[in-house]
Amino acid sequence: MTFTQKLLIHGGAGTIPKELHKDYHRGAIEALKTGWEVMEHTSNSLSAVEASVQAMEDYPLFNAGYGSVMTEKGTIEMDALIVDGSNMRIGGLIGVSHVKNPISASKVILENLPHHLLFGLQAEEYLQTQGVELVPQETLITQRSRDRLTKYLVEKKSYGDYIEPSKDPERRGKYGTVGAVALDSQGRLSAATSTGGVLGKLPGRVGDTPLFGTGTYADDEIAVSATGIGEKIIEYVLAMKIKFYISQTQSAEVATKLALEEMKNKVEGYAGVIVMTKDFGFSAMKSTKDLVYAFKSQDGDTGDFLSEKK
Ligand code: ASP
Repeated sequence: MTFTQKLLIHGGAGTIPKELHKDYHRGAIEALKTGWEVMEHTSNSLSAVEASVQAMEDYPLFNAGYGSVMTEKGTIEMDALIVDGSNMRIGGLIGVSHVKNPISASKVILENLPHHLLFGLQAEEYLQTQGVELVPQETLITQRSRDRLTKYLVEKKSYGDYIEPSKDPERRGKYGTVGAVALDSQGRLSAATSTGGVLGKLPGRVGDTPLFGTGTYADDEIAVSATGIGEKIIEYVLAMKIKFYISQTQSAEVATKLALEEMKNKVEGYAGVIVMTKDFGFSAMKSTKDLVYAFKSQDGDTGDFLSEKK
C-alpha cells in the first residue's frame, strides 16, 4: 500500500506581534520547502522532519538552535527529541548549550545508541566523538534573545519572585519552539521538536519537548509535536491525550480540539500542536492566539498560518 506523503511543521505558539508575522512566515515556508525536498528525494519521513526542524534551528527568529531563549542566568539550554514511529526509534537531548543543531544531534543518538536521551555536558562529550558540530554558546545567542531576557528580568522584579506563566500566558509572549510531523509513502510517521525552552527558566529546568508522549510523540498511527508552556503540557500529557481522543473520534481535527479544550479546563494550559495520522487526517491547532505552521501534501494540498486563518 502506498500513502500520500505529507509534511506539517510549526514554529511556535503564543502571541506574535503583527510586524513579525511576515518574518515568521518566511522562516516557516523555507523550512517546509527544505523538508519537502528531502521528502521527495528520500521518501523518508524521519529525514524530512529532521531537515525542516534543522532549517528552523538556523533561522534566528525561532526559539531553537540559533535564537534560543535564555535562562535567567543568561545561558542557553536546549532540549530536542526525534522519533521514528514506524519502529519506535527515539533520540533526544536535554539541556545542551553548545550543539549547533540539536535535532540532527538527536538523530545521531537515535541511530547509534541503545539509549533514548542524553543530557548536558556528557551528551556533548559523546556527540563530539561522533563528529557532531559543537559551537561556542555565544554564537547561538541573538541580540533579540538578550533584549527579551533583559525585559523579562525587569518585569519579573516588578511582578514578584516568579511569574507563574499559565496565570498570564500573554506576558511571556511567543513561546517559539519548532517542530515537524510527517507521513511518507511507506506509511511511516515521524515527529521532531526542538526548543530553547521558556524564557527566564531556571538553569536545569526540563520542558515537555524531549519527554516522549507529552510534547513529542510518534508511533505507527500518529505523530505529534507541541509548543506552549512545557509544565502544562507535561501535566496534561498532551500527545497521549490526543492519541486517546483519536481512538475515540477517528479524526485528528476533532481529537486535537477536544484535547486542547480539556487542557485549558483541567490545568489552565494553553498550547499549539501539530498532528499527523495515517488514517485520520492531520491538524494544526492552538488555544493560544497564534500558531506558526505550514503544510504540504503530495496531492497538491498546501497551506500555512498566514494564508488560512482558522
Ligand atoms: N514547550 C517548550 C518548553 O516548555 C516551550 C515552547 O513551546 O516554546 O520547553
